[in-house]
Amino acid sequence: MLTNAPRGTKDVLPQQIHKWHFVEKKFVRICERYGFREIRTPVFEHTELFQRGVGDTTDIVQKEMYSFNDHGGRNITLKPEGTASAARAFVEHKIFAETQPTKYYYETACYRYEKPQSGRLREFHQFGIETFGSRNMLADAEVISLANDFLTECGVKDIELRINSVGCPSCRARYREALQDYFRPYYDQLCDTCKDRFERNPMRIIDCKSPEDHAIAVGAPSILDYLCEDCENAFSDLQKNLQALGIAYTVDPTIVRGLDYYTKTAFEFVTNQIGAQGTVCGGGRYDGLIREIGGQDVPGVGFGLGIERLLLLMEASGVTFPEPAASDALIVVMGEEAKACGLKLLKEFRDKGLKVEMDVMGRNIKGQMKYADRLGARYAIVIGENELASGQAQVKDMQASSQSQVAFDRLYELLAGKEMN
Ligand code: ATP
Ligand code: MG
Repeated sequence: MLTNAPRGTKDVLPQQIHKWHFVEKKFVRICERYGFREIRTPVFEHTELFQRGVGDTTDIVQKEMYSFNDHGGRNITLKPEGTASAARAFVEHKIFAETQPTKYYYETACYRYEKPQSGRLREFHQFGIETFGSRNMLADAEVISLANDFLTECGVKDIELRINSVGCPSCRARYREALQDYFRPYYDQLCDTCKDRFERNPMRIIDCKSPEDHAIAVGAPSILDYLCEDCENAFSDLQKNLQALGIAYTVDPTIVRGLDYYTKTAFEFVTNQIGAQGTVCGGGRYDGLIREIGGQDVPGVGFGLGIERLLLLMEASGVTFPEPAASDALIVVMGEEAKACGLKLLKEFRDKGLKVEMDVMGRNIKGQMKYADRLGARYAIVIGENELASGQAQVKDMQASSQSQVAFDRLYELLAGKEMN
């Protein structure tokens, strides 16, 4: 127990971290290219923020949050998603008074008490972006386009963009009645959560993961038949923008998303390559959120993208992740004087930007040479009494297995050029 990570969490060991660095760098580059800027928010927030901002009819708020009272008696929750925090910061720092839109990106850990399985963890990580301040469907298209570019640059295969409109409170009122009429005869067959959803938020039944409920929901009326004129125009605008950008999509009226604050645009990037947890990225518009958490009437649109699922899909797509470079050299020393000389060189080479190491285990010369091999170091630079006397190190090219003498003051040149002369 003591030496096992808590259920649903995962260590990322150095052997895997290059995969994370690879996608992190790509994500930052693409976001900056689109004019988004990074925001960092706390790992925890007041529980109420998520109750209001995510919505208390959602699975997240009803059963998945890590909430606790701190020593000051505040009710605190570990972030289950990133949007509510970004919106809170937007309001708190009065960003709405600045020129709009406001474009944020972030990488964050998220915490949800779920049943752990492949692609579903209790601590997972998201890349996310949010655009605040625009009601124009260009903003939605930009958000989708950024996700699309990012996924393409990551080299994922077999992923599909599905879009829908979940309407606004006025079209949803009529839709809600239609849904209740549809589900009423099946009420007794619904799972307990959906029985509750039937009254509180019947649209959520369409999102239910239980296969029985899912089968019932297949015949449910489509939101797209209930959109008001404004929402219908917006949806058609969005599609025109996506077409102009050359982004392929399918309209899927069953995409309703798990969160209460979504309005109009909802979208997901889905794949069948990584098992049941196939949604890699989900997002949409949330015009009601900022007002809901006590701010102005400021609209927003964004997405959350699960990094663990992205990496699973990249692996399934056969993407090769660039491995970090091995050491340029291991400095192999024999004797106290040689050690002092080696340390000087080590410092000089590192200051100049080379990746150079020295043994700290007290290995003998044979052991140090073996270690150079283990490290995959390009060169072993051997310094002993003779070398100190002659002012020349023995340099072993580990790849060519050849050996030569190189003056101390020419070593850097050799390592930097990475060529034997
Ligand atoms: P799902 O339907 O799979 O539960 P969700 O609708 O709850 O997803 P969002 O809240 O939209 O997910 O989160 C955005 C993305 O974060 C998801 O598309 C997914 O890639 C990732 N994600 C969500 N929950 C988890 C989890 N428990 N473990 C790993 N990744 C997750
Ligand atoms: Mg979920």
